Amino acid sequence: VGDRADYDSEAKSICPFCGVGCQVSVKVKDGKVKYVEGINGPANEGRLCVKGRFGFDYIHHPHRLTKPLVRRDDAPSKDLDVDPANPWTHFREATWEEALDRAAHGLADLRSYYGGKSVAGFGSAKCTNEEAYLFQKLIRQGFKHNNVDHCTRLCHASSVAALMENVGSGAVTASFNEIENADIAIIIGANPTENHPVAATFFKQFAKNGGKLVVMDPRGQGGLERHAWKNMKFRPGTDVALLNAIMNVIVEEKLYDRQYIEGFTEGFFEFRDHIRAFTPDRMADLCGIDAETIREVARAFADARAGMIFWGMGISQHIHGTDNSRCLISLALLCGHVGRPGTGLHPLRGQNNVQGASDAGLIPQVMPDYQAVTDAEVRDLFRHIWRGTEIDATPGLTVVEIIDRAYRGEIRGMYVLGENPAMSDPDVSHARKALSKLDHLVVQDIFLTETAMFADVILPAAALPEKTGTVTNTNRQVQMVRPAVPSPGEAREDWRIVVDMARRLGLDWDYTHPREVFDEMKMSMFSLHHITWTRLEAEGAVTYPCRGPDDPGQEVVFGDGFPRRAGRARFTPARVTPPAEVPDESYPMILTTGRQLEHWHTGSMTRRASVLDAVEPAANCSLHPSTLRKLGVAPGGMVRLTTRRGALDVMARADRNVAPDMVFLPFAYVEAAANILTNSALDPFGKIPEFKYSAVRVEAAASE
Ligand code: SF4
Repeated sequence: VGDRADYDSEAKSICPFCGVGCQVSVKVKDGKVKYVEGINGPANEGRLCVKGRFGFDYIHHPHRLTKPLVRRDDAPSKDLDVDPANPWTHFREATWEEALDRAAHGLADLRSYYGGKSVAGFGSAKCTNEEAYLFQKLIRQGFKHNNVDHCTRLCHASSVAALMENVGSGAVTASFNEIENADIAIIIGANPTENHPVAATFFKQFAKNGGKLVVMDPRGQGGLERHAWKNMKFRPGTDVALLNAIMNVIVEEKLYDRQYIEGFTEGFFEFRDHIRAFTPDRMADLCGIDAETIREVARAFADARAGMIFWGMGISQHIHGTDNSRCLISLALLCGHVGRPGTGLHPLRGQNNVQGASDAGLIPQVMPDYQAVTDAEVRDLFRHIWRGTEIDATPGLTVVEIIDRAYRGEIRGMYVLGENPAMSDPDVSHARKALSKLDHLVVQDIFLTETAMFADVILPAAALPEKTGTVTNTNRQVQMVRPAVPSPGEAREDWRIVVDMARRLGLDWDYTHPREVFDEMKMSMFSLHHITWTRLEAEGAVTYPCRGPDDPGQEVVFGDGFPRRAGRARFTPARVTPPAEVPDESYPMILTTGRQLEHWHTGSMTRRASVLDAVEPAANCSLHPSTLRKLGVAPGGMVRLTTRRGALDVMARADRNVAPDMVFLPFAYVEAAANILTNSALDPFGKIPEFKYSAVRVEAAASE
């Protein structure tokens, strides 16, 4: 960095990576980001992790898209064989006029010939709230249906389904910082040290101050385990068995909060009868946790004055992900651990704006603020705000369903803004084939991603540090994003491109600034009440819900009831469902996928960040040392992973955190794309794929 005082300008903005939403000061010298430091945002209080501090230079990478590209007439067939540094065999540069005309007319032609439902849209949780709002509006208004979704489908869709069903709201009930007021905290199916590192620092501090930290995860985690009061490495896929056994103890020993249950919940008696079968003694073998530990944790959670539950994709990415989340909600309700300081339910959100993009309606079943498309009053409201637009009353298709329809030729065109389904979808060979079959694919992104390689038109977008807008973090904090540097070449902010596309698709949009979009959002989003653009510019962040113009917002909600019928939350019993695919003779081990500290999601940004890429430059998987010994592979050697969907070779690390019958594979590496192997079986409620559990065969690679 050199002299830290030597910079030309600074911009206060938000880290572009995870859902913690750390506030940053971006220091600029000679038109480039020189360094980034944490500032005193409500979530991070000055802290940053390695990604936020050192992962910024992806925006200056030579692979940035700086001009619109269109597919050449003589291009080879659509495939992944495009070199991002030299794409000229497949694409040629175009003016914005030509590219936008071609992009919009291609989608409009499909709309004319085959109907609006021949076109679908994927938006992105990496964009601002205003951009997410405009994108879902474009699909709903321009194509007259709700087939628009984004990556929330792949991370917390099942959590949101359970929260909406049982609590009446899809967001967290308390900020993660509330842990400082708790006595006990359960962290299940999440690895915050790697994936929400700044949140993890608060969790460690909680434990150091004497709080009881319970870490429940089939994959051990070096980071938080050292600080935990109890570590419960349960068998993968047995979440419901374990959680029901814990609740069985609370019910049978009458440790539950009777007054809270009577005052704030419904469905308890049916739930109590259901839970009686799940005794710790019966569940212990199934989940691999001894009955006494289950009892001890149950008693501690129920007896605590204040308890919180945090969860991640280890809970949500299962075909029983909604049931897993239902159990966590029931556990909190049983003990009355909602609505008070130090209590709450908190699904740790993955991308920096997945909360905001979901709030803004980038979901096929609901309009902004989770208002159901099936509700006639909701459709009337949007008909009024959107100048006469009729909203389709049928919930739209989700990410995996859209890709399936594209594979079958029923969806013929897509507009993909900032998503990378050619890397992120389960059974990704199927997804890539589906993308290659599209008659017309428009991709808007900052890099020539794997998905863009299948595109007919590529529109170069601005990165977050080049944008103005708002984003909403895992804590429900709406925060202001401010530009630090100009976009390279002719790249433009996403909202501007979406507006240009909308006009060419026949919509009379006249937005000239994200502030106008935000003001329109407030017309239908009660969650933004008392939050204004002016306030955000001045204060940087306001938490929703917010009770008045001077209220910084409510960090803990539902102390006086829930946004459900009669103000009551609901107990929904959950049954034990096995994974969609269990190990057998041919595929005897369990594959689980996830992220790692240095790389974020499909790697399109972090693998182009020089420091992060230097620390983690190569695709890798983790296996227990005893498994490696059996395979005859030394740490650092290559193994072949094979599932019913495909096979890949990848370097193996020795890792005692992984059980001997498991392999952990990060999904950030295109050269060993984890989703070649994953199963596309879906949770029936959240429609989320089972990324956390596939049957796999592991062998020494042929080169070993
Ligand atoms: Fe960025 Fe998340 Fe790290 Fe904060 S914890 S610096 S938001 S990646």
